[in-house]
Amino acid sequence: VKGYLQQIKANARLNVFNEVFDQEALASAKTVDARIKKGTAGKLAGMVIAIKDNICYKDHKVTASSRILENFTSIYSSTIVERLLAEDAIIIGRCNCDEFAMGAANENSFFGAVKNFADEKRVSGGSSGGSAVAVQAGMCHAAIGTDTGGSVRQPASFCGVVGFKPTYGRISRHGIISYASSFDQVGTLTKSVEDAALLFEIMAGADEFDGTLSQKPVPKADVHTKDTGKKKIAYLQEALSSPGVDADVKNTLINSIEKLRADGHTVKAISFEYLEYLVPAYYILAMAEASSNLARYDGVHYGYRSPNATDLTSTYKLSRSEGFGKEVKRRIMLGTFVLSAGYYDAYYAKAQKVRRLIKDQTNEILQEYDFLLTPTAPEPAFPIGKKEKDPVVTYLYDIFTVQASLAGLPAISLPTGNNSKGLPLGLQLLGKGFAEEELLNFSEYFL
Ligand code: GLN
Repeated sequence: VKGYLQQIKANARLNVFNEVFDQEALASAKTVDARIKKGTAGKLAGMVIAIKDNICYKDHKVTASSRILENFTSIYSSTIVERLLAEDAIIIGRCNCDEFAMGAANENSFFGAVKNFADEKRVSGGSSGGSAVAVQAGMCHAAIGTDTGGSVRQPASFCGVVGFKPTYGRISRHGIISYASSFDQVGTLTKSVEDAALLFEIMAGADEFDGTLSQKPVPKADVHTKDTGKKKIAYLQEALSSPGVDADVKNTLINSIEKLRADGHTVKAISFEYLEYLVPAYYILAMAEASSNLARYDGVHYGYRSPNATDLTSTYKLSRSEGFGKEVKRRIMLGTFVLSAGYYDAYYAKAQKVRRLIKDQTNEILQEYDFLLTPTAPEPAFPIGKKEKDPVVTYLYDIFTVQASLAGLPAISLPTGNNSKGLPLGLQLLGKGFAEEELLNFSEYFL
């Protein structure tokens, strides 16, 4: 804990933590140490973990990096925090993220952008940018993030760490601040696949507080028993033919394909019929759900209340206008629009149908193949401020990650080395629903 605290202090300029629980972490370390000596310690004894600041932890602040929750303290712990603590993990602090997890660069945080440790002029990725850099810069052993459309996988790829999002319905969302509930899923940022598997095993599984959770037993992924079976892997042809994909990203994909083939795996190019509908369908649905979820921040129940409010209407209006940032407001307005009576069928209902087609076709591909291999992001980390002005450009960045989110499937981003500028590159492996064990075991191959 002391080592990590030093590293956090020495790199405070990266803006990774919204709060560091220094005294508390030191005290927990002592308690855990005593348990280790007594032989009663849990499976995570001594593992120092950072959590994204949209995960509730009793008696600690949780802000979702928004002004509207700046001074909000959680009165209960999320199921995942309880499970981590029950196994003697030590929580070292809460990490900066995009406001309400809306973003792909961590530039939408009320507390400012997180800087990439590989190049401080560049973004960390998002929305779990703080969690990714915390692991990248050695400020903790592992970090927890949330992934709605790529928020664990994409920053993992920008920061050269492993980012794992399990199947939708695997990990409880109880105590996670909602963004888009039919997509939101807890994920991990780690240095190894082994750590991802261990954390998954502890956090996953039925929870009476989350009715969307599967009752299926959670597999124990033993990533040490190397999976030597020959796999059938599909890759997206467009990832190599599209001019929008960076040359180094293409090369890392080509190298992996060649290595897989040389090792006797079957790798084939496929073309995904609904590729151009992935981003539009995701954003219509995510914004619709967000506009509904964020209706609860009204200046009355909890969070920020405008000091200028004089009656109920101005309390709502001013608290929300002053409390939410620009991107969050944009999404609430667009989400409300696609749900409004006149446009519901044209946008929301249509996007739901498209989601079904995407899900069915993805599952069809996975009946023929074991995995789908794609880049995690079209480019490595870009300079801070470069894309901020055009939200659509940033939305398009999610082209490879939203497919797993729309289909509710598990996916992992694996670091595949750096480009000539020293910027990390990553590939994404997408697997069958509830087959995390198979996915994690094979992921070792890439490291
Ligand atoms: N970039 C995507 C968005 O802004 C994904 C974010 C996320 O996964 N939380 O919605």
